[in-house]
Amino acid sequence: MGKVTGFMEFDRISEQNIPPQERLKNYKEFVLHLSDDEAKKQGARCMDCGIPFCTTGCPINNIIPDWNDLIYNQNWEEAIEVLHSTNNFPEFTGRICPAPCEAACTLNINDDAVGIKSIEHAIIDKAWENNWVKPLISTSKTNKKIAIVGSGPAGMAAAQQLARVGHAVTVYEKNDRIGGLLRYGIPDFKMEKTHIDRRVKQMEAEGVVFKVNQNIGENVKPEELTNNYDAVILAGGAEHPRDLPVPGRELNGVMFAMDFLPQQNKVVAGDKLQNQILATDKHVVVIGGGDTGSDCVGTSNRHHATSVTQFELMPQPPVKENKEMVWPNWPLKLRTSSSHEEGCERDWSVTTKSFVGENGKVKEIIAARVEWKDGKMVEVPNSEFTLKADLVLLAMGFVSPQQKMLDLFGVDKDQRGNVKASTEGKDAYITSKAKIFAAGDIRRGQSLVVWAIREGRQCARAVDEFLMGTSTLPR
Ligand SMILES: Cc1cc2nc3c(=O)[nH]c(=O)nc-3n(C[C@H](O)[C@H](O)[C@H](O)COP(=O)(O)OP(=O)(O)OC[C@H]3O[C@@H](n4cnc5c(N)ncnc54)[C@H](O)[C@@H]3O)c2cc1C
Ligand code: SF4
Repeated sequence: MGKVTGFMEFDRISEQNIPPQERLKNYKEFVLHLSDDEAKKQGARCMDCGIPFCTTGCPINNIIPDWNDLIYNQNWEEAIEVLHSTNNFPEFTGRICPAPCEAACTLNINDDAVGIKSIEHAIIDKAWENNWVKPLISTSKTNKKIAIVGSGPAGMAAAQQLARVGHAVTVYEKNDRIGGLLRYGIPDFKMEKTHIDRRVKQMEAEGVVFKVNQNIGENVKPEELTNNYDAVILAGGAEHPRDLPVPGRELNGVMFAMDFLPQQNKVVAGDKLQNQILATDKHVVVIGGGDTGSDCVGTSNRHHATSVTQFELMPQPPVKENKEMVWPNWPLKLRTSSSHEEGCERDWSVTTKSFVGENGKVKEIIAARVEWKDGKMVEVPNSEFTLKADLVLLAMGFVSPQQKMLDLFGVDKDQRGNVKASTEGKDAYITSKAKIFAAGDIRRGQSLVVWAIREGRQCARAVDEFLMGTSTLPR
């Protein structure tokens, strides 16, 4: 423990954000990492708890108290080693993780949690700046070949782990660039894509082969993988969006968030798009209150929408959680994202009844208020209202992976259509088909980047054990 009295002396320090009026002018990141001195004070607040609830709250079990102490002592180089021992890509999680570790931090019971995510962000940024992040090239090769379908955080984490123990890994990606939803879902203002490109370079130096524009089940047959590789990992994510089949759904201007967001990321990457869907001078209504919806709000504001409204079916959660009831678990409470701060009307307990159009284009939404009684949604009588809407973005989550590839591989699925595979025991991550494994959203359903990294790492260990009989990779 760095400073015994640190938690009493220092307040939590939040990272500085570039103000909304400035950051809305571009798509660049706007969260500035802590200075060395701020990070030191933040590290000093850690109490090095006997039971570090932060570590158990973190899906990849980051060894948080150790790097807090190292940063208090300004030993940055050792801190990145400890951080990398559990997390392949701290520059992703240090930017976009919701930080369940902080919800679980003991200080969070009656004070503000240690700013764990901000310390992680500062450590990895310094590591890249100082050229401490090097390829870890395996000195011996196993002559085993592994194909990974999908280059999101699950596929990338699995690929890096397996290449580092000497396997020949090829990642197949149907899109034209690597990264999954990190590349074509999450906007650049939350995470610039150079962070992915740098990792791809590192992984290529470690021996990973990336193949883009390879759609397994479309332009590449699944048998090509099963015949030519010793193991296959399915890491294709959960791409099937939840629809809203109400009258008017077919109108122009009503679309899935994922028809809108990737286009802007492509434009930021330098692609020339014909007929980009723009929110400029439009009344935008985002339906769905999660991360995807919030990203639509931030992108619409950068397009200079006339107005942005976000509907959520559920009631507004409390501003503060009852810590005695929920700590150290993830609390249900009102979350205001940086995109909300940039400008957005949020409306709760609202159901969309229909879309009204003119000349085939959406013009209005008809909605109504709802109440929740005994877990059931009931419409409030006479509560219907209309709202102008020239662009409606459906961001109500994802129901399952795309099914076609799974059917072609013939793997069993669970009730929700995800690939069926457990995470425990000797058959961890293996599907119903010999030598085919699954990890990330394709197995667990729509989730978080940090869970995808966890599954990729654990699946890599399972594949290594399957191929070699034993494994030195962490569980
Ligand atoms: C808009 C949006 C914002 C989000 N924001 C956050 C956030 O702020 N923080 C957070 O933690 N999580 C966030 N998430 C969730 C997070 O991005 C996902 O949980 C995570 O990326 C899942 O990782 P994955 O590797 O399992 O799948 P994905 O990232 O979905 O990657 C799967 C990859 O597989 C490829 N693929 C699929 N089928 C095939 C095929 N047949 N052939 C070849 N390739 C294929 C896809 O093209 C894709 O590149 C967000 C999600 C969205 C949609
Ligand atoms: S729970 Fe909080 S105070 Fe305790 S070890 Fe983890 S970060 Fe430090």
